[in-house]
Amino acid sequence: MTAKESKNKTQLIDRFGRKVSYLRMSATDRCDLRCVYCMSEDMTFVPREQLLTLEEMIRIGTTAVDLGVNKIRITGGEPLTRTGIISVFQALGKLEGLDDLTITTNGTQLERFAQPLKDAGVTRINISLDTLQKDRFKELTRNGKIEKTLSGIDAAIKANFKAIKLNTVILKNRNDDEILDLIQYVEERGIDISFIEEMPLGVITEHDRAESYYSSEQIKADIRQQHSLIRSSDKTGGPSRYYQLNQGSSRVGFISPHSHNFCDSCNRVRLTAEGRLLLCLGQEHSVDLRRVVRANPLDDTPLRHALIQSMDIKPKGHEFILDEQPLIFRHMSSTGG
Ligand code: SAM
Ligand code: SF4
Repeated sequence: MTAKESKNKTQLIDRFGRKVSYLRMSATDRCDLRCVYCMSEDMTFVPREQLLTLEEMIRIGTTAVDLGVNKIRITGGEPLTRTGIISVFQALGKLEGLDDLTITTNGTQLERFAQPLKDAGVTRINISLDTLQKDRFKELTRNGKIEKTLSGIDAAIKANFKAIKLNTVILKNRNDDEILDLIQYVEERGIDISFIEEMPLGVITEHDRAESYYSSEQIKADIRQQHSLIRSSDKTGGPSRYYQLNQGSSRVGFISPHSHNFCDSCNRVRLTAEGRLLLCLGQEHSVDLRRVVRANPLDDTPLRHALIQSMDIKPKGHEFILDEQPLIFRHMSSTGG
């Protein structure tokens, strides 16, 4: 394709002039952990036959890249629990125009999958870890084994991805005393970390989200007691604001939906495991892409049109309010967090 042709290509641009260049795809809503802020204890999952097939995921990802999406993240639920998911990475990893193929995972299966992911073309990897303490991990994930995630992180480091980042949700009086330990852990390994404020997605009864709120500003203040944090100009096309840690190689990010609204620069859409394209994390506007791909098994034109038209209903922003019942009844795991 010539430079002119590529410039004239149809792109996904919404009513507010925001260009959508980032697609997050959920491979499954199921998970081998039950993090207390993400899921309720007993979850009802989508019946397997309602999930997009792996081929349908590839079709949608390929069409999105043809429409100018240059970054895809595969997430879930736990994406690495979906049988055959590596084939999706292998297919997407070959697409011209896709600059960044990434995954968010809880790390429990990474010992086995880190190298195949790297070989498939995965550039960067986010691994969720909220504590370094065995018993606390068990409590926060409702019975998870920390050893699996820690050895998964080691395997990812060995596979030599372009970047590895931990995702950490801090809950007041549950793990806020570990912020400095986690900082030391990433610094020693030369990897990054993002602290995420808990979001009111889905009804949970395990704790009161308003009471467990621990702001990014507080986390920054805690870190600055012992370390220097220098605002970095790095942008990953996401809502994270980055800081350089002690002038070393590690970066610290903050995702703060409550204290900083990041909607103005939103460049992303999400695809649920059943093929619902969600135009905003905090709103219900969506398009059923599964219906479109199944009605047109051999022709991607209707899928292309559906993606372009979805831009007309991308809302201006989210409306998270902590101390009210959630407006969004989807859990993060079914949204594709
Ligand atoms: N299972 C994978 C993992 O844990 O990395 C991928 C899916 S998980 C839903 C993606 C991210 O969402 C994780 O980093 C998790 O900590 C975060 N998350 C889940 N529920 C959340 C909530 N209510 N508020 C903020 N972050 C949440
Ligand atoms: Fe599973 Fe990830 Fe949700 Fe934890 S945050 S329950 S690992 S989907």
